[in-house]
Amino acid sequence: MKKLVFASNNAHKLEEVRALFSGRLEVVSLADIGCHEEIPETADTLEGNALIKARHVWERYGLYCFADDTGLEVEALDGAPGVYSARFAGEHATFEENVALLLERLKGVPAPRRACFRTVIALIDEYGTHFFEGAVNGEITLERSGDHGFGYDPVFRPEGCQQTFAELSSEEKNAMSHRGRAVQRLARYLHALPLDE
Ligand code: IMP
Repeated sequence: MKKLVFASNNAHKLEEVRALFSGRLEVVSLADIGCHEEIPETADTLEGNALIKARHVWERYGLYCFADDTGLEVEALDGAPGVYSARFAGEHATFEENVALLLERLKGVPAPRRACFRTVIALIDEYGTHFFEGAVNGEITLERSGDHGFGYDPVFRPEGCQQTFAELSSEEKNAMSHRGRAVQRLARYLHALPLDE
């Protein structure tokens, strides 16, 4: 079976991706290949950061790899926090601090406070570099609701849904989420390849 590195150590993401490829492709983490260094995400686009991570593994370890980067783009904030979503409230900000800052910045902005989650996956394989994108539109709620998921989930309500991401089960969220959609596109590409050769 062909092996592919997912440049992540996020157990939740790895599990999600492994389930999609099981029996067809072996997905290994950064820890699995002995990569313990922090890969700096210094680009100012999601594409750029995803590519930095995938390239790092390809160049240092000679292994085919994919990496993802996600941002929350809020219309009333001109697309912020976007690529800076993880460190919106500061370099080592917690999810809670980022959410608090987001609600603070949106104080007085009437509903619907439109937003979009966007994930970009960069893949380096024997055919070159490829990008896969997934996005979901929705809105930022007035207050937090739900305790599943992570990050901005308690304040993001996807379009057509009465609940926030944090009120959905992981299966329900993955079926419609930005990352779920990007991973599905990656899966479609990989499944079309002659992987077992
Ligand atoms: P990453 O590129 O997946 O590490 O995502 C960057 C930041 O976006 C994270 O630190 C979270 O704050 C936020 N984020 C990414 N994906 C999600 C999600 O599915 N729900 C809520 N927040 C997310």
